[in-house]
Amino acid sequence: MEKNCYCQSGLPLADCCGPLLAGETHAATAEALMRSRFSANVVRDCEYLLKTWHPDTRPKSMNLQTIPPWCSLTVLSSREGQPGDSSGMVEFRAVWRQGVEIGVLHEKSRFVHADGCWYYLDGILM
Ligand SMILES: [Zn+2]
Repeated sequence: MEKNCYCQSGLPLADCCGPLLAGETHAATAEALMRSRFSANVVRDCEYLLKTWHPDTRPKSMNLQTIPPWCSLTVLSSREGQPGDSSGMVEFRAVWRQGVEIGVLHEKSRFVHADGCWYYLDGILM
């Protein structure tokens, strides 16, 4: 049976974030990059998170301990971020759960397209 993607798109991993995380292809849209970065959080792939972070805002390193155990993602809206655009914005709501503790991240993430790739620039907490 095919594994469903970590980003909860409902698609098989191989047709969604899988090839992006494996470095086989680049995200075609800002939303696809956002979804793949959520998936990278789930599988705790710091290398992918850093690689897809814009050099202007990218941290020097990431601490795995600071990544919460995400359990759900809902993409609320998306503005631009399509092939041919130079920037884009994706608003999402992500939930993590650890024992009885639950946290919600509601963010508008900004993305920029440079050198043929989408990059995460920064996020505005909602
Ligand atoms: Zn996915």
